[in-house]
Formats: sequence, C-alpha cells, structure tokens
Amino acid sequence: MERFNERGMLIIPNPVHETAATEKILVVGRLFCPNGHSLISNRAVFNGYPGIMVRVRTGQKEGLVALSPIYGSKTRIAMDIDLVKGEIVDLYCPHCDVLLPVHSPCSCGADLIAFFPTRDVDFTDCVAICNRVDCINSRILINDEVISLSMLDAF
Ligand SMILES: [Zn+2]
Ligand SMILES: [Zn+2]
Repeated sequence: MERFNERGMLIIPNPVHETAATEKILVVGRLFCPNGHSLISNRAVFNGYPGIMVRVRTGQKEGLVALSPIYGSKTRIAMDIDLVKGEIVDLYCPHCDVLLPVHSPCSCGADLIAFFPTRDVDFTDCVAICNRVDCINSRILINDEVISLSMLDAF
C-alpha cells in the first residue's frame, strides 16, 4: 500500500506526464481548514486520489469545486457553478463555511490561499493555491521553503 508521510503527502511516479518536467509527482493526502475540518473528499477522485473540496463564492454565484490533489495538475471539477477564466473567487470550508485565509499575494495580483496539511494553523507549512481561476500558481511550503516540481526527485 502507498503510504502518506507525516505531512500527508505522497510522491508517486507521474501517471499523466501532464506536468512533464518530472517523473515524480506530489499528491496531497490531507488538508484542513483553520478550524480543523478535512478538505479532502472522495466525492471527486483524480487519478485514483481523493480531491480537495472547497466552497467557492463570487458575486452572486456559489458552488462546490473539487481541485486535483496532484501538485502541478490544473484539473478541477466545478459543481453548481460556472468558473470564468481570470475571475477572482473566495474559497470557504464546505463544512464550517470559514473563509480560507490568505497566505500571501500572488504574482498575478490575486491572493494565494492557505490550506494546512495538519490541524496546526501554520503558515510556514502549508499548501498555497491562487484564488484566480486558471492562474497557474500554487505552491507547497514546508518550513517556509517553496517546494517546486524540480525539487521532487530530492524530496
Ligand atoms: Zn471548516
Ligand atoms: Zn495568481
């Protein structure tokens, strides 16, 4: 059986070569809202791995969106909401409806939103995903260091 490490992350051979740059990819197996609710859900599965489920609101629209847990993959499934490319959305926990916190500004002008791999709300140890639809930025930070795809072989 595949085993996630203590941060709930798993390195697997790249099954899709969607990210091309590396033979290995990082899968996020655990993420929590600031109130400790799990954001990983079996309602949407990507390459066999449960997705990251968030509630998205923008203007008058609201719906659930599942993001791929595979780092570097832009695959997502939107339920009850049409996402418009370039739009900035707010992300909420689907369980307690808390607004997920901003980690830092994204280079595109939107915000990188923090997701926590443990129930400790630790901004130096988190997954950050831009809240602009189709922005390519997402980051995995461990001890405040950005883990890039090219570093995965040494992970
Ligand atoms: Zn919550
Ligand atoms: Zn961005």
